[in-house]
Amino acid sequence: MDVYLPDGSVKALADRATGFDAAQAISPRLAKDALAIKVNGVLTDLIAVLPANAHIEILTFDSAEGKSVFWHTSSHVLAQAVQELFPSAKITIGPSIDNGFYYDFDVDHPFTPQDLEAIEKRCKDIAAKHSPIVRCMSSREEAESYFTKKSEPYKLELLNDIEGEPSMYQQGVWQDLCRGPHLPNTSYVRAVKLLSVAGAYWRGSEKNKMLQRIYGIAFPKQAMLDEYLHMLEEAQKRDHRKLGKELDLFSFHTEGTGFPFWHGNGMVLYNVIMDYCRAQHRAAGYQEIKTPMILNEELWRRSGHWDKYRENMYFTTIDEMVHAVKPMNCPGGLLIYKNVPHSYREFPIKYCEFGLVHRHEKTGVLQGLFRVRQFTQDDAHIFCLPEQIEQQITDVIDFIISVYRTFGFAEYKMELSTRPNLFIGEPAMWDKAETALKNVLDAKKCDYKINPGDGAFYGPKIDFHIKDCLGRSWQCGTIQLDFQMPERFELEYVDSDGEKKRPVMIHRALLGSMERFIGILLEHFGGALPLWLSPIQARIIPISEKFTAYAKTIFNACATASLRVELDERPEKMGYKIREAEVQKIPCMVIVGEKEASSGTVSVRFHGKRDQGTLTVEDFLAQLTASVEHKSPAKNSSVGE
Ligand SMILES: [Zn+2]
Ligand SMILES: [Zn+2]
Repeated sequence: MDVYLPDGSVKALADRATGFDAAQAISPRLAKDALAIKVNGVLTDLIAVLPANAHIEILTFDSAEGKSVFWHTSSHVLAQAVQELFPSAKITIGPSIDNGFYYDFDVDHPFTPQDLEAIEKRCKDIAAKHSPIVRCMSSREEAESYFTKKSEPYKLELLNDIEGEPSMYQQGVWQDLCRGPHLPNTSYVRAVKLLSVAGAYWRGSEKNKMLQRIYGIAFPKQAMLDEYLHMLEEAQKRDHRKLGKELDLFSFHTEGTGFPFWHGNGMVLYNVIMDYCRAQHRAAGYQEIKTPMILNEELWRRSGHWDKYRENMYFTTIDEMVHAVKPMNCPGGLLIYKNVPHSYREFPIKYCEFGLVHRHEKTGVLQGLFRVRQFTQDDAHIFCLPEQIEQQITDVIDFIISVYRTFGFAEYKMELSTRPNLFIGEPAMWDKAETALKNVLDAKKCDYKINPGDGAFYGPKIDFHIKDCLGRSWQCGTIQLDFQMPERFELEYVDSDGEKKRPVMIHRALLGSMERFIGILLEHFGGALPLWLSPIQARIIPISEKFTAYAKTIFNACATASLRVELDERPEKMGYKIREAEVQKIPCMVIVGEKEASSGTVSVRFHGKRDQGTLTVEDFLAQLTASVEHKSPAKNSSVGE
């Protein structure tokens, strides 16, 4: 029989060949790396028999779907290990996640670190058994009697939700209800590490029982696992929550869970970023606007947020009318557009807004600045003519890339997300919008992947993911094309033929959330920010109080040159003061004593560098101001060290 490969070529295989046979026929190397297969677009077990004339795609760990099959299968191995060691544990669900997998168990006692170690060891034993993982179709009655006998109430509940015939997967003597697919056998999951345990409610609802969730990670090779664990260790050292405390940038308080409090140093950083962004937007022809934080129910109904986004919104009542705290800035921008009539000559109209938005997130998912309930978006809405779409999108892509470079992010990935299940508008309009975005990406020869069904409810989008120094990727910028809001809000302009027409709307953000972006910056630089971003750029330390007067003249010269500078005249030991400035990751320490005072110089020590040089005050000021001016990347950062 024949099968078709992704490149369109045909491969002849024996009848009843499996995905594994197909991989083997393509290359032995691929057979070694193969984890699962897509058959006519459907993710399938590698060991399943292929139908004739199928379009197939072999999946390895390099693909997101390959990873997800790998990690999902790892969760089955974990569940088997737990039930072997804790026979009374009830099994529930075990999905793959962005980085690894978890499985939720109902147990009498929370797992201890020792339990985790023993479970991990048992996972490896199960892997060593090479047990084939086999899909067995069973009738609903069979599955029901199996889980009743095993007294697995959660599985019985899940079984109830399944339409059609359920499928069971067997590995060795252990079975689980699952639609699959899975890896061919347990031996793939050799390099596995269990990372942590956390409480999690059954089906995510506080009304249900608290379960024990074990998180883990696994890789096809031990070396990959080692590298990942090293990265995790590095990431922990760079945790922005820890750095935020050490550098006195921000804090969180139970009085407002998920709402960041910005301290003095944090505000300096925040404002430096804002100032830079403001200037860039002005130069790119944007007008800055500011729209209200609270707007009435009618507006949110009209924008579609009421139907599609209400769960994430906060409400209040004013004059007996329901109002919502804005979760997005778009409707406000639309009202400004509608305030006066527009002509085709004005386009594009570009409104930018540093919009403070509030979104309700579950307490469990909050994570420092990465996931908050209040944040500021560097948002903008571009209104343009249909024929201007591609040029506008092109301009925004260039804008985003140039801003990322300035912040020291040279690597990024792009994703095109298409129509989701919950959407407003006509499918034909969606197709048009998706084609426009695709055309731009193709014309610019951008490297991008398509995320089917991941668009916003009003339009398709291009997302930017920046890569930090640990190789982690973070979604930041977004460009969303929208034909729906102009329709819903009846936006108009008078075209050259005198007819009233609808403009097109583009929503876009470069950094995304300011808060989250600052978190990413902190972790990327390990807190040692480039000079232009550092809240304190230089600290002047006189060797003794005899030189305080000279230190003050340097302080004044720095301040006059608009540098953010501090004078440390405390009666502490030199070593102590230097260590403290090191811990606070102040980019530049200026040490002055006898030699410096008499020669009109300064001794300079840059963060993370042992060498210290002596410079004239003029040279020192010129060097620092040039670095700030050019927004030089952090030469002295600990990145890569
Ligand atoms: Zn499964
Ligand atoms: Zn918007």
